[in-house]
Amino acid sequence: MTGVFDAIAQRIATIRETIPPHVRLIAVSKQVSVEAMRAAYAAGVRDFGESRIQEAEEKQYQLQDLSDITWHLIGHLQSNKAARALELFDWIHSVDSLKLARRLNTLASDRPTPPQACLQVKFASDPNKYGWDAPQLLADLPELDQLHHLNIVGLMTIPPLGLSEDEILALFSEAKEFAAQLDQTALQTIRMKELSMGMSGDYGLAIQAGATMVRLGRVLFGDRPPQHPQP
Ligand SMILES: *Cc1c(COP(=O)(O)O)cnc(C)c1O
Repeated sequence: MTGVFDAIAQRIATIRETIPPHVRLIAVSKQVSVEAMRAAYAAGVRDFGESRIQEAEEKQYQLQDLSDITWHLIGHLQSNKAARALELFDWIHSVDSLKLARRLNTLASDRPTPPQACLQVKFASDPNKYGWDAPQLLADLPELDQLHHLNIVGLMTIPPLGLSEDEILALFSEAKEFAAQLDQTALQTIRMKELSMGMSGDYGLAIQAGATMVRLGRVLFGDRPPQHPQP
């Protein structure tokens, strides 16, 4: 077992060296054991990303002693789990509809600290993913900007599967430009300073395009078991 955990520490150290210091590394620990997460913590990781409420709940219970972890929700959130999500997560990267944003805003109004939120946007059509397309987001922006209990700080995007590196880089660059464009509009509460983009297969391209947060699972923890399809 020790070998497995040494390998995690080693991979984290190696990848850290390739990531500029201003880019936040989020260790995506879905389907990863709490022991492996402890190894990542020991190697310096303080940001963990989970995509399911129940899994996060169980892990947070088992990792209560590691009190300085920042928890990031990166998967689709159903409205009926929004209240629990606000209790469990400091960041929600996957705010993917006006309806969900409104719900989170209402629920967050009686919380001490507003959650940090990213708006999930698709820059290529992808029926397998949630999120706004750019014109829809522009249309919803005035109302989103009125949601004072949410701290909307940037965008999150995931390119569709099967694209070339050039195409992926183009989509990430589009995200960067779109965020800059939004920041030029007269926004009241929304700030576009974070770009959550880049996973194990494409984080180099994402950083090249201006990512501020990369969400890495397999390159840190190894391949996940194949039996559960991931969103
Ligand atoms: C699973 C997942 C990741 C991490 O993917 P890897 O390929 O393991 O790096 C990042 N972001 C989201 C939204 C995910 O669901």
